[in-house]
Amino acid sequence: MNRTVAFVGLGHMGGPMAANLTKAGHRVLGHDLVPAAVETAAEAGVEPAGSLTEAVSVADVVISMLPAGRHVLGLYDDILNTARPGTLFVDCSTIDVTDARTAHERALAAGMRALDAPVSGGVVGAEAATLAFMAGGGEDEFAEARPLLEAMGKKAVHCGGPGAGQAAKICNNMILGVSMIAVSEAFVLGESLGLSHQALYDVASTASGQCWALSVNCPVPGPVPTSPANRDYRPGFAASLMAKDLGLAANAVREGGVHAELGLRAAELYAVFAEGVGDSEDFSGIVRTIREGSRGT
Ligand code: NAD
Repeated sequence: MNRTVAFVGLGHMGGPMAANLTKAGHRVLGHDLVPAAVETAAEAGVEPAGSLTEAVSVADVVISMLPAGRHVLGLYDDILNTARPGTLFVDCSTIDVTDARTAHERALAAGMRALDAPVSGGVVGAEAATLAFMAGGGEDEFAEARPLLEAMGKKAVHCGGPGAGQAAKICNNMILGVSMIAVSEAFVLGESLGLSHQALYDVASTASGQCWALSVNCPVPGPVPTSPANRDYRPGFAASLMAKDLGLAANAVREGGVHAELGLRAAELYAVFAEGVGDSEDFSGIVRTIREGSRGT
């Protein structure tokens, strides 16, 4: 069934996601604070929304892809009262679990329905419609959103109630951040012991040290030719995004009183690393910081 979608936030991710919805036959009214983002999306078939409130008032579904929780909550405060009762609000941004739950509550209180549906797969996945969605909310809301999510991605998992999609995303990325640091430390330790990168890779990638950080996104050049290390750490998954996601995980760890020392430490290390390299470097570039910090010891 073709739907009318108001799509808010047409940046690196939202622009191509909105374009893929139009390719699947949906009517997409796009809105962004930055006119250039609207123009680029329009070239890909997205209808510029004359005004945000008009677009929301005719939409069956409102999808948002915004930088942070404050943007999503601000948007919901602005538009919840202008949507038709029962409109489905799908937030695909990566935001705090607490903010996601608040967004659900506000939507429900205004007579709307809501789903949190953050993604993994990056800009490449957004362009190729191969994103993975992790959704939180009711079964009916997930079932209704599913055809739209599948037009923008290749996988959609219903993770549970409100906020469960965000929870799954930050837990997964906490595993990834910690494991990338572990793999990087092992390579630097191997270097100091005279062990070649290839030898460590050949052993660990087929043994109990195997993980995505090693066998797909290997932080040293050579063993996995497609990993960012082979192109001077051009992303890939930018360090700034890993720092953001680990920051959200660290908030949840503290709020929940969870004993997660490695997750908290990974958040600290990535915050410092990302301050230096921002979005210019893949998160696997942290191996260079570890090597740098090891000199002379
Ligand atoms: P981006 O900065 O490129 O895009 C965000 C867009 O939102 C911008 O164009 C901005 O102008 C617009 N915007 C901000 N406030 C707005 C408002 N109130 N109304 C309308 N438009 C508004 O960011 P992005 O890389 O597209 O990321 C978007 C979200 O996706 C973030 O939450 C990010 O963490 C998540 N994410 C990004 C990636 C990635 O690789 N870039 C991967 C997974 C998840």
